[in-house]
Amino acid sequence: MVRRPCWVEISTHAFEDNYKLLAQACRARVSSALELLAIVKADAYGHGLSICAPAAVRAGAGWIGVTSVEEGVAARQTLRGLEPAPEILTIGGVFPGQGAEVIAHRLTPVIWEPYHLDELEAAAKATDALPGSIPVHVELDTGMSRQGVELSELGALLERFRKKDESPVRIDGIMTHLYAADERDGEATHHQLDRLENMLEQVAAAGLKPRWLHVGNSAAVLLGGAPETALASLVAIAKRHGMHAMARPGLALYGLVPEFDPPLVREELPLLDDLHKELQPALAWKTQIASVRSIGKDEVVGYNGTFVATEPMHLALLPIGYADGLKRALSNRGYVLIQGERAPIVGRISMDQTVVDVTDIPKASPGDEVVLLGPQGDETISACDHANWAETIPWEIFTSITARVERRAV
Ligand SMILES: *Cc1c(COP(=O)(O)O)cnc(C)c1O
Repeated sequence: MVRRPCWVEISTHAFEDNYKLLAQACRARVSSALELLAIVKADAYGHGLSICAPAAVRAGAGWIGVTSVEEGVAARQTLRGLEPAPEILTIGGVFPGQGAEVIAHRLTPVIWEPYHLDELEAAAKATDALPGSIPVHVELDTGMSRQGVELSELGALLERFRKKDESPVRIDGIMTHLYAADERDGEATHHQLDRLENMLEQVAAAGLKPRWLHVGNSAAVLLGGAPETALASLVAIAKRHGMHAMARPGLALYGLVPEFDPPLVREELPLLDDLHKELQPALAWKTQIASVRSIGKDEVVGYNGTFVATEPMHLALLPIGYADGLKRALSNRGYVLIQGERAPIVGRISMDQTVVDVTDIPKASPGDEVVLLGPQGDETISACDHANWAETIPWEIFTSITARVERRAV
């Protein structure tokens, strides 16, 4: 069936190039042994898991990360037949009843609660899994107070892995999450990594030797490996403990640079400054003009007439609204691109429709392509622009694009 014109285009080349660019820069500038796990949670930040997960693997990712067991199962299915099959990390825990899927689809769950292990052990018993055949990564809470084992509980949790010959579950990795990698003074990160080292001493004292240590999101990766940065510390800590270091970028793979505090300009990105190619946004969001009309001075536009024409105007109707994920906060604030020009959104964005001012684009007519996110002519609107207009963050802009918007790989 031909669908209404409202779609996102995902450039798999941009996504693959972004992964390769980051991986090469990390290897050249930080450590030849540093791995990058590609974060493709939440339907690849709204870009489409079935498009981005295979692209990550083609670009060389040996690990991909998703939130839930159900996302992990979907990732395994979409990657079927692609070699080499990557490891799939499920970040958000294992809920009662999910153990069997973890085992059947060879997922690597992040665990931190005793009940996570109870669930996996029970599922293992039901499937006669061999000792040590189910890998897990243990998350340590080093200060974010969100998920992860606290120091006071660590000894008891590690005890569960010590009966190695009996337990079906083996500790394959350790991870923590930095809550302020975008703060350039690095103080919070430094503190977290100190705590990480202390907790790793306990892991070693328990006689456990996990292979992987992973820390760091896009901000940590882009700050690079200069002394005292998160990546340099990660690599040093992993080396001291005989582990492989891995970082977990998300946003940067989709081509966006997170905002730093104090702000960092592109030329200053320590990891990318000597590379000719820069990160490219992988997503463009498009629609077409559905109809055009003219209104006179003092006529109003949209619900509650929040926009009043101060002069005769031309308007274009777009078949897209907040039910597609276009933030209603962009009403009377945001812009779209038509014929390479910026057209302001006027009046309230409705559930399924939006009106823009095309008074200065007199040739605008039904069928014209409209860009909500991405480049057109010499202009570009980015997810950071939408985030600023809507007073949120680009992660939320991407993940707000709803399922009824078609994802097209280009
Ligand atoms: C989402 C997530 C990331 C990626 O974060 P970005 O800021 O998008 O790079 C890394 N690690 C964990 C645990 C996450 O949940």
